[in-house]
Amino acid sequence: MNRNEMWRRIEAHPTAWDMIVVGGGATGVGVAIDAASRGYDVLLLEQSDFGKGTSSRSTKLAHGGVRYLEQGNIGLVMEALKERGLLLQNAPHLVRDLAFIVPNYDWWEAPFYGLGLKLYQLLAGKYGFGTSRILSREETLEHLPTLKTEGLRGGAVYYDGQFDDARLLIHMATTAFEQGATLLNYVEVTGLTKDAQGFVDGVSARDAETGNEFRAAAKVVINATGAFSDLLRLKAEPAAAPMIVPSQGIHLVFDSSFLQGQSAIMVPHTSDGRVLFAIPWHGHTLVGTTDTPIAAATLEPVAMEEEIEFILATAAQYLTKAPTHDDVLSVFAGIRPLVRATGVANTAALSRDHVIHIDRSGLVTISGGKWTTYRRMAEDCVDQAATLAQLPEKPCVTQHLHIHGFHDAAKQFGALAVYGSDAHQIRKLMETDAQLGEPLHAALPYVKAEVIWGARREMARSVEDVLARRTRALFLNARAALAMAPAVFLNARAALAMAPAVADLMASELGWDEITRSKQLAAFRDVASNYVLHL
Ligand SMILES: Cc1cc2nc3c(=O)[nH]c(=O)nc-3n(C[C@H](O)[C@H](O)[C@H](O)COP(=O)(O)OP(=O)(O)OC[C@H]3O[C@@H](n4cnc5c(N)ncnc54)[C@H](O)[C@@H]3O)c2cc1C
Repeated sequence: MNRNEMWRRIEAHPTAWDMIVVGGGATGVGVAIDAASRGYDVLLLEQSDFGKGTSSRSTKLAHGGVRYLEQGNIGLVMEALKERGLLLQNAPHLVRDLAFIVPNYDWWEAPFYGLGLKLYQLLAGKYGFGTSRILSREETLEHLPTLKTEGLRGGAVYYDGQFDDARLLIHMATTAFEQGATLLNYVEVTGLTKDAQGFVDGVSARDAETGNEFRAAAKVVINATGAFSDLLRLKAEPAAAPMIVPSQGIHLVFDSSFLQGQSAIMVPHTSDGRVLFAIPWHGHTLVGTTDTPIAAATLEPVAMEEEIEFILATAAQYLTKAPTHDDVLSVFAGIRPLVRATGVANTAALSRDHVIHIDRSGLVTISGGKWTTYRRMAEDCVDQAATLAQLPEKPCVTQHLHIHGFHDAAKQFGALAVYGSDAHQIRKLMETDAQLGEPLHAALPYVKAEVIWGARREMARSVEDVLARRTRALFLNARAALAMAPAVFLNARAALAMAPAVADLMASELGWDEITRSKQLAAFRDVASNYVLHL
């Protein structure tokens, strides 16, 4: 998968594509996989990097949604539990099951949550992950040695899935490519073209790297731009009623001492009535999330002070070591593309969770849902889009389609396990050049060969792409990822600066000159400053 090959495919394509997908998050890439694997001819355009939007900023849970169960949304939970199971079957190198403990401090909590979580387990049927049960106080502390003991009565354990969202997305993009889709990052769709009847028949787009503009025709255009969906809809119909209500959620990342053991904590009711998770992730502790309505979506959302305070305060109620600002290794924010319930008269709700909306111009918008259900969302969307475009009917084949890198014993690759079957080739890079086996930072497991691999085979185009989404350095330890310039950051505690080393490797791989290299580093520092708390 590389950019030259993608441009070659576009240039060799003089006729209209069956489908153009706008947006390279979980939803758009899922649609591209579905459409291409059915045999449709599909082009996907992403304005930034694949996963730059919400899809790299989730809690990283492949889950049915315990809280929907409480709301009595059984159908939705069953659908998501099935998708969770399929995700594990199709991408075992990136998805794993994880024990979640609901700690109990009141007498009624054990029977209440115990019963609910048993139902959650049963609803998964043959896609089940593990047996839910009530735990004694001692068992709870065996799972969670750093849980606060004061007033603790016991707990209830249930199982859900955990994954690496940005890595899964890159493997999905590769899968779409292997199925015949053409995908480009750093190409923004700037407008929609229409035929004489006023139906959308293509896009105008701009390559962010060269500034070149071009047009591409399509039998149907699919808007998978998440929280930005209304902006694209307005390009088709300036009077379109908004359908998205953006809501921000943040996570804080700490070292693993805060949550010892292999299990996660699930707090079913925080003081603001939400669910909060503390999860072991890539040797760190991930705590989130919040739900704060915001006026408009931005590509690089920033955590608000009150969100940070809320998570620190809630975590302190459950962890023996109360985390402080000083302990935050990274903070990241994402925007939920929630769908407005009213105001869109002809919305076809195919499930209570995601929505496929067809504007009068024929623009198909898919939004809502969640990461876990991306495959099902894509299936519904391609069914609708193919009917609208009068394409020959072709059945969906993604239920048992392996995601690129599929490997059912990837653990053996150690820190390279997330690459699945690609780990062999990364190891080969290290064997041919011993320097590529060198770590990028003492605090993180990444080696130089991963930078080369990202640039050569995974369409990484910037220092940020490598540190944020090909590796997860920026999300795990922003201070380590950042090239700390003391003038910019008063707190220069990072042991090493990863970014300059990454920039050097990318410069040699992609042929950057010194000016480009410096611009890349400056751009990365700008973005990374949002992930570091200023003390
Ligand atoms: C805090 C938080 C936690 C979450 N946790 C979970 C979880 O644990 N499990 C789960 O299942 N779900 C979770 N979700 C939900 C899940 O992350 C989202 O539903 C999913 O990522 C949305 O994907 P998307 O592709 O629709 O949007 P996005 O990932 O935002 O992708 C849209 C893309 O469109 C691109 N774009 C926009 N305009 C244009 C244009 N004009 N031209 C080209 N490209 C354009 C953007 O750059 C962006 O990359 C969470 C969400 C949040 C906010």
